[in-house]
Amino acid sequence: MKRFELERAITDNELLLHYQPIVAVPSRKLTGVEALVRWKHPERGIVSPMEFVPEAEATGLIRKLTFWVLREALLQSNVWRRDGAALTVAVNLSVDNLHDAHFRRYVDLTLKVAGGPELLIVEASSRALARDPAPPVGTLELMRDRGIRVTLDDATEEDAHILESFPADIVKVSRGLITRMGRDHRALEYVRAVLRAARERGLEATAVGVEDEATWGRLAELGFSGAQGYLIAAPMPPAQLAEWRSAHL
Ligand code: C2E
Ligand code: MG
Repeated sequence: MKRFELERAITDNELLLHYQPIVAVPSRKLTGVEALVRWKHPERGIVSPMEFVPEAEATGLIRKLTFWVLREALLQSNVWRRDGAALTVAVNLSVDNLHDAHFRRYVDLTLKVAGGPELLIVEASSRALARDPAPPVGTLELMRDRGIRVTLDDATEEDAHILESFPADIVKVSRGLITRMGRDHRALEYVRAVLRAARERGLEATAVGVEDEATWGRLAELGFSGAQGYLIAAPMPPAQLAEWRSAHL
């Protein structure tokens, strides 16, 4: 993949967002969505973010990419709001964005033109924050001062110290732990450890990667208040989400 190709993708609107429902536990009521970027490549078809987000981070294009995602997600959330659905929209950030002074300014600007912060959630990888020699705690605080909620994403037992001290509202427990916890006692213990740390801080906990009813059945007792995963729905384009919503009301 070449830098200019990715740059073209961002400027020529080859990127698109899919939205994955996040539901309340145990009601299964839709509360919000996570925006997940895809690249509609002219020759290769839909390309996964796992392929091009690392590239965007390595080349500095992550600033442009995140700006695009943020704006697109906020505009979509306004469309839903107009249709009478107040869904929160969670956007994934790179830690690089949190270190970028332009990013803070861009957030303020975007909020001005694209609507208030009440429905916006930003997600940052717990692992990336844990590894950062100078973690951007100030920017997370700034987001929360603006009324934007912060999610510590993809958390595992190793990130407990992050959960104990970083400014945040929500913790998302890693898909790896959630899919293993039904058959692997240690994974279950790790999930409990993350939830303990979350509870002590008063953070809400969301389970990612819920794929079966057996896993769903344990979430409430463990202390999760939100869930997302293929059992509920895969990420989908906005038009499909509208259909999904009307079928699940
Ligand atoms: P993430 O933030 O942890 O997002 C959840 C990923 O798990 C998504 O993959 C989603 O499709 C997948 N997933 C959800 N439920 C299930 C399930 O039940 N089973 C399985 N097997 N997978 C499930 P996706 O869309 O490929 O995104 C991968 C990662 O790429 C994201 O992980 C996030 O770290 C990154 N990413 C996606 N969009 C963006 C973006 O706009 N900006 C940045 N910086 N990163 C992004
Ligand atoms: Mg995420």
